[in-house]
Amino acid sequence: MDFRQFNSFEEAKRFFRETVKKLHPDRGGDKEAFLEFLKSYEEFFQSYQTASKVKVLKNPVLKGNYFFSVLELTVEEVALGGKKKITIPGEEKVCPKCEGLGKKKDGAYSQCGFCKGSGFVETYDQRKEAISYLTCPYCKGQGVILTEKCEECKGKGYVKLLNEFWLDIPLGLKEGDYIYVEKESLGVDYDLYLEVIIKPHPYFSLEDGNLKYRCQIPFWEILLNDFITIKTLEGEEVVSSSLFTEGQPVILKGRGPFFPNGKRGNLIVDYHIYLPKKLPPKAKDLLKKVVELIEK
Ligand SMILES: [Zn+2]
Ligand SMILES: [Zn+2]
Repeated sequence: MDFRQFNSFEEAKRFFRETVKKLHPDRGGDKEAFLEFLKSYEEFFQSYQTASKVKVLKNPVLKGNYFFSVLELTVEEVALGGKKKITIPGEEKVCPKCEGLGKKKDGAYSQCGFCKGSGFVETYDQRKEAISYLTCPYCKGQGVILTEKCEECKGKGYVKLLNEFWLDIPLGLKEGDYIYVEKESLGVDYDLYLEVIIKPHPYFSLEDGNLKYRCQIPFWEILLNDFITIKTLEGEEVVSSSLFTEGQPVILKGRGPFFPNGKRGNLIVDYHIYLPKKLPPKAKDLLKKVVELIEK
């Protein structure tokens, strides 16, 4: 059982809990299978924990053996933290597709220029005072040279295996920060630097430790409803409509991103009131009547 196949730690845990009940010997499960399952979960859990020693750097000096990459996070991941599966290069091994040749085995080829396609080269053996023939060292006697690169290894002849680990997303990240993970906690021979990129979100953005929620609210919704539904990091929340009549952004205290100290920023509702460009004549007449009533 490979628990790394799951997309999140929570998913793996859920699968473990559900399956372990069925496999338990007390419920007629096989004892061997149960222990094996438990063992693989323990290993997964351990690797998950060790890779969580991370540092956030503002301006790192890249030195020694390192691997540099970018880490794209969603606004929610930055705001709420959590775990993220990271894939990094592992050990190198001979390319299984071309067996180290670096060339596409059934790809295009051309005649070997060294032996002119014969597969042999002539040499004069001084001792024997005779011409002898050697296998062409360039094409190894094939007479032809493969010219297309192996697609698997891009012509290198070796491929890098991939290592996976779970990253504890540090709280309080900003775009352009660097996540640094020491090689010791990754079990590889290089330190890892990941530059943080935040994926654009359709309505959320992070600004100065707060979460901004952009939305458009039709004027009639504010006037006709007691509450307006606002999107939050946790889902949705209803806010009194009267707050939207002040002309100021609506601030939901402590509903923004988490900081490393456990405190939270605010959720700032940056709303625009929607006014239709044109009203049908009938609606206009009705609105006039409404205005008369309001002004009384
Ligand atoms: Zn290859
Ligand atoms: Zn040759």
